Amino acid sequence: DEEKLKQFFIGSIDQGTTSTRFIIFNGTGEPVAQHQIEFKQIYAHSGWHEHDPLEIVDSVNRCIDQATLAFIDRGHKVDEIKAIGITNQRETTVVWDSNTGEPLYNAIAWPDTRTKGLVRELKEKEGADKLLNLCGLPLSTYPSSVKLVWLINHVAAVKKAYDEGRLSFGTIDSWLLFHLNGKMEKNVHVTDATNASRTMFMNLHTVQYSDELISFFGLDRNKIKLPKIVPSSCPNSFGSMSDGLLKGIKIAGCLGDQSAALVGQQGFTPGSAKNTYGTGCFLLYNVGDKPVISKHGLLATIAYDFGRSRKPVYALEGSIAVAGSGIKFLMNNLGFITHSHKISELASSVPDNGGCVFVTAFSGLFAPYWIDDAKGTIFGITQFTERGHLARATLEATCFQTKAILDAMEKDSGHKLTELAVDGGMSNSNLCMQTQANITGIPVDRPAMRETTALGAAIAAGFAVDIWKEFDELKEINQKDRMIFEPNISKEEGDKMFKKWSRAVEMCRGWLS
Ligand code: ADP
Repeated sequence: DEEKLKQFFIGSIDQGTTSTRFIIFNGTGEPVAQHQIEFKQIYAHSGWHEHDPLEIVDSVNRCIDQATLAFIDRGHKVDEIKAIGITNQRETTVVWDSNTGEPLYNAIAWPDTRTKGLVRELKEKEGADKLLNLCGLPLSTYPSSVKLVWLINHVAAVKKAYDEGRLSFGTIDSWLLFHLNGKMEKNVHVTDATNASRTMFMNLHTVQYSDELISFFGLDRNKIKLPKIVPSSCPNSFGSMSDGLLKGIKIAGCLGDQSAALVGQQGFTPGSAKNTYGTGCFLLYNVGDKPVISKHGLLATIAYDFGRSRKPVYALEGSIAVAGSGIKFLMNNLGFITHSHKISELASSVPDNGGCVFVTAFSGLFAPYWIDDAKGTIFGITQFTERGHLARATLEATCFQTKAILDAMEKDSGHKLTELAVDGGMSNSNLCMQTQANITGIPVDRPAMRETTALGAAIAAGFAVDIWKEFDELKEINQKDRMIFEPNISKEEGDKMFKKWSRAVEMCRGWLS
């Protein structure tokens, strides 16, 4: 019962693109202590985006310490924390020396487009047409595979480690699990099925690495150490904390961030979906226990794999590279605002976009367009244009791409979504969520507690240690004070705006770099 559930706690590490959080939830899904740290974004050249892998580990450890101290301060004991879950930015690629555990380069973050030349070459290669059916992902700069190939081709230390058979590869989950388990001492090297499904090395149907995929990228499997693929909810595969205040506590859940948000929103039935507006924006649509390969520019991915006797569940995904990062661009690069939350106020200073459309293609355009060489482009500027118009156009860019993704999803699944569950930093903007409802013509449903990504990882860990046994037991979690945004413009008006956007997308193709 509820009182009893309030005495069980689960820690959740949420390692996102711009910040790391550690949140301790009780068994009713309420956060009781948390800490968040932003870390450095490294942009060495146009199109490059890196993170320092050791800074990421450090941010995780510091968040754990601070949140745990707050938890103790509130009268709780560490041994009331039954398990830890991890959720992480996906695709971001880390390489380390298998003998020493030292990173061999910065992590290449998921929005990085340095591989676009490589991707162009790979698209011409024999077998390229088979990839989508095997792994569910189109060839683009987005997955880990192309980032790893770039590292081997361009970084001497990585190439040497590869040639000598001591190159360990991992996404951020694997890198953190290796560290949290005490590095070389236990040498834990695992990943969960959701993260593995973003590498482009995994056969989506068998949930195993595919030699065909690995050799397509010209890689010799014997020279790279790949993390072992395990279910996302697992009592014995992820090890335990080797050090710090939570020493000895089991790590029992691991999910890529978008999968975690789907779990946190309880999108457990086929046909349910969620859209998360963080640095990027990602719509995941649960298609059940068989993958659906998209014909309309979406990705097929593992939604979650709760192990035991359960089959892995698949999703169709629409990925948008730039969402909140567009707001950060207005703030950091153009000085329009001093804090992200001020964007709504600036955008509300004008009644509409004043004719401006901003295609925020800083990393090319992802779903459903996949235009690697698109660049950010603003259309419709006149003497009349103010900062407010551009703020509005920035918020709208994400909403238009979400609309394009929903249209593609309808074509792929034959099913029209009737409501959109949302979360993530940018979903804090009421104006943005109202705009989203208007452009898509369906209600947008936002929970009061928006840390659904962290909650999802806590749920995966909680299932592994039997805090919950059936999805039904989660029904009450995070249902209080949800806010529904109903469309308040006509379908014709919404369609007219979207048509203009679609034309802008066509016009930003093939921009010379
Ligand atoms: P991530 O996990 O990708 O780092 P978050 O879910 O933490 O992302 O969201 C961070 C993003 O949300 C930032 O890019 C920021 O600009 C945006 N954001 C945060 N608060 C607001 C707000 N009140 N209105 C609009 N955008 C916001």
